[in-house]
Amino acid sequence: MALVELRNVSKIYQLGEEEIRALDDVTLDIEAGEFISIIGPSGSGKSTLMHILGCLDSPSKGTIQLDGVMIQNASARELASIRNRKIGFVFQFFNLLPKLNVMQNVELPMIYSGIAGKERRERSMAALEAVGLANRAKHRPSQLSGGQQQRAAIARALVNSPRIVFADEPTGNLDSHTGEAILQLFRKLSQEGRTIVLVTHDPEIAAVTPRRIEIRDGKIAVKVDLALAGLDRQVRLPAQAPAASS
Ligand code: ADP
Ligand code: MG
Repeated sequence: MALVELRNVSKIYQLGEEEIRALDDVTLDIEAGEFISIIGPSGSGKSTLMHILGCLDSPSKGTIQLDGVMIQNASARELASIRNRKIGFVFQFFNLLPKLNVMQNVELPMIYSGIAGKERRERSMAALEAVGLANRAKHRPSQLSGGQQQRAAIARALVNSPRIVFADEPTGNLDSHTGEAILQLFRKLSQEGRTIVLVTHDPEIAAVTPRRIEIRDGKIAVKVDLALAGLDRQVRLPAQAPAASS
């Protein structure tokens, strides 16, 4: 069984007379340990797909199974508990609480899951060390650069040891150099065995991940567009030496 199993999922919004199919009959498996990007132009349904995969929203049709749990039968309260225990989120605008320091922000998911103070502090420091931010634990978010704020948000996403981490345009608000460093961090976390899904409109970001899922008009494209996925930028292998003629 895959970690996430999406089956024939549609998400339909009714806007007056108009029916918008934000997702249209999507079937998808994500295995534990995968590093995946979901790529597509603006309005193609990426965030809708991520929200359903991340149990932030439920499908209009179809089913989602996460870590063996059929999500369609879960109440809002159960959904919140599943998210807290099994899922980490990273967003474009970091979403840190401005009045809390970095460590307190990272501790939040553990407060919701009822972990005692001493363990919270130990685990938040370990998460901050994992993202290279242990020396900023007592800073407020406003005292950090954008890249540092995103590292804090990543530490917060990791601190409950989630089964899967979703990042929606995580470098969208960073300059390219800082964005590259954040991508390197995701790559490192992937190599450590984390399951990570990056949502992006940017082919250069999608090119980082071994698997790319392209979405167009709410549907998964059958074949990834090589140019869109950034694969046409791959370094060419050196030409083979000609075989010796006999
Ligand atoms: P992306 O993240 O790829 O930019 P979205 O998943 O946000 O795309 O949106 C997909 C489509 O669904 C768009 O046409 C968008 O306008 C529509 N949509 C998204 N959320 C809503 C909503 N709450 N109500 C109505 N339409 C929506
Ligand atoms: Mg989006």
